[in-house]
Amino acid sequence: MVLAQLGGTITRAIRQMNNATIVDQKVLNECLNEINRALLNADVRFQLVRDMHNNVKRIVNFDDLAAGHNKRRIIQQAIFNELCNMLDPGKPSFTPQKGKTSVIMFVGLQGSGKTTTCTKYAYYHQRKGWKPALVCADTFRAGAFDQLKQNAIKAKIPFYGSYAESDPVKIAVEGVETFKKENRDLIIVDTSGRHKQEAALFEEMRQVSEATKPDLIVFVMDSSIGQAAFDQALAFKQSVPVGAVIVTKMDGHAKGGGALSAVAATKSPVIFIGTGEHMDEFEVFDVKPFVSRLLGMGDWSGFMDKIHEVVPEDQQPELLRKLSEGNITLRIMYEYLQNIQKMGPIGQVFSMLPGLSSELMPNDQEVESQAKIKRYMTMMDSMTNEELDSPNPKIMNESRSMRVARGSGCDISEVMEMLEEYKRLAKICSKMKGLKIPTRRCDMNT
Ligand code: GDP
Repeated sequence: MVLAQLGGTITRAIRQMNNATIVDQKVLNECLNEINRALLNADVRFQLVRDMHNNVKRIVNFDDLAAGHNKRRIIQQAIFNELCNMLDPGKPSFTPQKGKTSVIMFVGLQGSGKTTTCTKYAYYHQRKGWKPALVCADTFRAGAFDQLKQNAIKAKIPFYGSYAESDPVKIAVEGVETFKKENRDLIIVDTSGRHKQEAALFEEMRQVSEATKPDLIVFVMDSSIGQAAFDQALAFKQSVPVGAVIVTKMDGHAKGGGALSAVAATKSPVIFIGTGEHMDEFEVFDVKPFVSRLLGMGDWSGFMDKIHEVVPEDQQPELLRKLSEGNITLRIMYEYLQNIQKMGPIGQVFSMLPGLSSELMPNDQEVESQAKIKRYMTMMDSMTNEELDSPNPKIMNESRSMRVARGSGCDISEVMEMLEEYKRLAKICSKMKGLKIPTRRCDMNT
């Protein structure tokens, strides 16, 4: 996933800075240069990268910092704040209320992932107890209604559309009225896309918007266009009052960072990102937790959201208790990995885990990281109870590691790698000892 690549480079740069014996101007410059390169590779606009670089250097002025100041923390905090500023549009989006009807209209170019995203959005809310419904007002693309219908049936979401009617405004109005009568609280209207920003598309959007009076217009955009997202988002905003953006295909393109920062520059809030073709490859986008993940600091709120979605309710308190106790044994890491496997598309959750971010996702290889997890678990299957339950990572000395390698049919270097991963996790978790881990996303925000 693109974020893992960008995040991996940034995390490594910060880790190198943290590992330096003395943090001076040279170390800071190296760290910032590495981060700049990563951002430019992700197609973030040069001016934004330059401003970030200059701002961090201004904040971290070595001449002004008295001895005893924690320079590493100050630098990390400055980088965190600057990345947040880069992605923050400074404007919240309209938030629909459960139980109260909201009409959400989706617009975007053809192929951007609009129809898929409508269903993902509906499905996401349905799992959280909403009563969504889908209306297909795309009469331009042959097969659009069939696609929406198939997705809706799969997700068990009511839908409305017509094979015979060619007027999108009429279908949109009828669909919205039908679902209002049925007390659906989230009525999602999918509109036509075109290959390019042409006048007819904008006119049709305006008409559907005027007729259905949506509470929110969501612009769906493909991340592969990178910083060109700025012009595209502005063009749509000038035509209809776009209130939020969803950036899709963040799984496949190296330009995701550029797209996100470009959208923020148009002062439009990004509310979700699409991270795959499947219905559940869809994530809430919040600037702070997102940057936290990029910096390898984890995203507890996103992680908790996932835990609540996939870990059986009766097992949640136990898992949370263990995490907040801070003493992470190899057995807990084993359970951690087991849970991650249950959580479906691994890429979604991995970078949310503090301490494990990007390390188990080398080179974007989802399949590879799945295989790696399985191998780690096989190695742990060859461990004794004493080894699995010891709170001391040093228990795994050389002879024990050799035995595990033989028993699991793995290479000793792989066992060492897994133990390194464990030590890193144990170190992070030990710092979290006594911390109150948020139990829901909203706990994090308040
Ligand atoms: P529309 O023309 O804008 O309605 O686009 P579609 O919803 O038909 O999507 C176009 C293609 O993009 C389809 O093959 C989708 O499966 C794919 N797609 C949509 N969102 C994502 C995403 O987040 N990641 C990936 N990899 N593919 C996506």
